[in-house]
Amino acid sequence: MNRNTEYSVGRAGRSLVSVVVPVFNERVMLPLFFERVLPILAALEEHHEIVLVDDGSEDGSAGYIRSQVARNPDIRLVKLSRNFGKEAAVTAGLEHARGDAVIVLDADLQDPPEQIPAMIKCWQSGSDVVLMQRRSRCGETFLKRWSAHLYYRLLNRTSRTDIPVDTGDFRLMSRRAVNALLTLKERNRYMKGLFAWIGMPTRVIQYDREPRAAGETKWDYPGLVGLALEGLTSFSVSPLRWATIIGLIAASIGGMFGLWIVVKALMLGDATSGYPSLVAIISFLGGIQLVSIGIVGEYVGKTYLEAKQRPVYLTEDVVENPVGASRQVS
Ligand code: UDP
Ligand code: MG
Repeated sequence: MNRNTEYSVGRAGRSLVSVVVPVFNERVMLPLFFERVLPILAALEEHHEIVLVDDGSEDGSAGYIRSQVARNPDIRLVKLSRNFGKEAAVTAGLEHARGDAVIVLDADLQDPPEQIPAMIKCWQSGSDVVLMQRRSRCGETFLKRWSAHLYYRLLNRTSRTDIPVDTGDFRLMSRRAVNALLTLKERNRYMKGLFAWIGMPTRVIQYDREPRAAGETKWDYPGLVGLALEGLTSFSVSPLRWATIIGLIAASIGGMFGLWIVVKALMLGDATSGYPSLVAIISFLGGIQLVSIGIVGEYVGKTYLEAKQRPVYLTEDVVENPVGASRQVS
């Protein structure tokens, strides 16, 4: 049967599942990715499409994806004009996905595509969001696991939206949830937080996270610290309150200490030995002031970036197989 008619018949009855994949310098991964993902998608009852977002790769990933698009009408390439970061790439993918359900999947196969059928089952039984929670983080260093654990605790203490522990971007969202997410227009896109903010009926599936199959992680520690700070400050203003509280505590300690010195001088006549304590107090207060100004600065900076109203990403090109494109018209 002609694929075209098969599809348009299908469109009425069968639903379409989109898989959104952010790609940044994953040339070595891509063949493995297709090899593993395509059979799984082909075995689904639903129709599928893969939206690969090339986030300004410089290793020929885009060219490779183009060649795959030419061979497979279910694959589409959205090429961003430069590297905008994973968060922007996922946003671009969500905006270009047409499915009734959308799955976000990393190109490095750390999110096992074998879970996709289970995710779709969950969605069909009424969940708008199917969250994938890591049971183990094999292949990650102890330091990374431990810092991630601590960070989630801190994040959830500070913000009112509960960001689930050990979940990443690997998840399924219904059309309704995707549309809701796309109404959030902020430029600082801390995806985990945005995903959590929309709420909606959610189910959690646990899985084992695999080590990267090839290539290298794009995150270094400074990058992760940046992302962590971003998360803390884009989802709550409580760090501002901490600054106030710490300032108050420091001021009261300082005040009491001052009082004690006065009392000591009056009652014991001991007015001299103040130099070390003076240095300690000045550096303590100086530190607190700098941190507080820094925290205020984070928010001022965010306000500035949001105020510019720049788009989250720019698309250079959308490449689609002619067969795939014609289906959308029919
Ligand atoms: N990625 C991206 N833009 C970036 C960095 C990463 O689109 O600026 C993609 C990358 O190609 C991969 C996914 O985001 O598909 C996750 O990246 P990575 O594996 O480096 O992160 P980790 O798994 O270590 O969190
Ligand atoms: Mg990875």
